Amino acid sequence: MATTPPYDVLIVGAGPAGAACALALAGSGLRVALVDKARFPRDKVCGDAIPGPTLKALARLKPAYAQELRNLTQAHRTDVRTSRLLSPAGVEVSVEWRAPAFNSPRLHFDEALLTLVRRHTSTTLLEGDAVKKVWQTDELVMAQLTDQTELRARLIIGCDGTHSVVGRSLLPQPLNRARHCAAVRAYYRGVTDAPETTSEFLFLRRYRAGYCWVFPVGGGVYNVGFGMLSADIARHKVDLKQELQQLLTTHPALASRFRAALPLGPVQGFGLPLGGSGRPLSGRRVLLCGDAAALIDPLQGHGIDKAVISGILAAEHARRCCEAQDFSRASLAQYDQAVHRRLGRDLARRYQLMRVLARAPWLVELAFAAGRWPRLRRWLVQAVG
Ligand SMILES: Cc1cc2nc3c(=O)[nH]c(=O)nc-3n(C[C@H](O)[C@H](O)[C@H](O)COP(=O)(O)OP(=O)(O)OC[C@H]3O[C@@H](n4cnc5c(N)ncnc54)[C@H](O)[C@@H]3O)c2cc1C
Repeated sequence: MATTPPYDVLIVGAGPAGAACALALAGSGLRVALVDKARFPRDKVCGDAIPGPTLKALARLKPAYAQELRNLTQAHRTDVRTSRLLSPAGVEVSVEWRAPAFNSPRLHFDEALLTLVRRHTSTTLLEGDAVKKVWQTDELVMAQLTDQTELRARLIIGCDGTHSVVGRSLLPQPLNRARHCAAVRAYYRGVTDAPETTSEFLFLRRYRAGYCWVFPVGGGVYNVGFGMLSADIARHKVDLKQELQQLLTTHPALASRFRAALPLGPVQGFGLPLGGSGRPLSGRRVLLCGDAAALIDPLQGHGIDKAVISGILAAEHARRCCEAQDFSRASLAQYDQAVHRRLGRDLARRYQLMRVLARAPWLVELAFAAGRWPRLRRWLVQAVG
């Protein structure tokens, strides 16, 4: 007779995808474990811009979550009202935002999300131990941790980011550099002419599929970074860390403002798997969310909102499959369809748009020129923003 595994759902990775998934499973009656290799608070290399849909998705789950998250991040957050965009030819366009969005260092933001999980769910939280290996039998799925502990569950949800062990073990995909970005970032203090409520995006003549950013993150600190398509990095043999330093010392819109700026730590880099490829997100007893599922917006590089939304969708399908006791590939494929409807179609469109803009720099300049007229700017912001 088959033994019942100790967990119904094992979530690997307690970043935005995993935390949102655990929150969305609150009150389900399911036995949920959430395991992360890091102990929180932990840093994550990121631009720290928390897209508006993140809070919206959490508020739909429970209105109090969004407010509680705002309260928890109060000391380490800046509300962003304006985005300042600079075209490769130096045309500047400013966009005022009505919807609330904020920047918050991931060290604090992810800890705040996990605090919601600790407060509002009965999830078993296992920190500081990495999943090394994942495999499955007919009845269950197993994950082996670094300390040799074996966790057994009926369903595993891979929220373990870009280098997902769950994905590599159960749904392997080759790296496609045309659908992958790499980016670096560093924190600075003492940047001049940089309002604390304005995020800046600088598009470059030399590297088209990518941009440089200067995002205020509160307390006079700025997250400064540069990212581009991995295929272009390989083609042009770009050293992103060197390129960022070069930009900060030579770019006409940055050099004078960074002359007296102080770096607060090293320049660090990480990968961004872009969305819109239609790759499989599920298989027998497994679902993937967030970066593990490659759901980053190819135009802006935003992935936190997609991680939260896919984590919530995964929780809905986990409930359904556990109730029906059906963990077959066909049953879990309904999750792929839900993600495709909610995010995939838009991500595919945005990927195509990114490719077109990268090939036609004149179109980028035309969009910036059009962006000077308020009506056209509103239309462009809706299309791209
Ligand atoms: C330089 C850079 C800038 C970015 N800027 C932005 C931005 O400004 N705004 C935005 O919205 N998005 C941005 N992104 C994308 C964003 O960081 C990701 O989309 C987001 O973090 C995805 O969340 P996630 O929960 O899927 O994965 P993650 O946040 O990566 O979380 C994964 C978790 O899994 C854990 N883990 C990994 N492997 C294991 C294992 N084997 N066992 C146990 N635990 C494991 C990790 O410790 C981590 O806590 C940026 C990315 C980069 C690289």
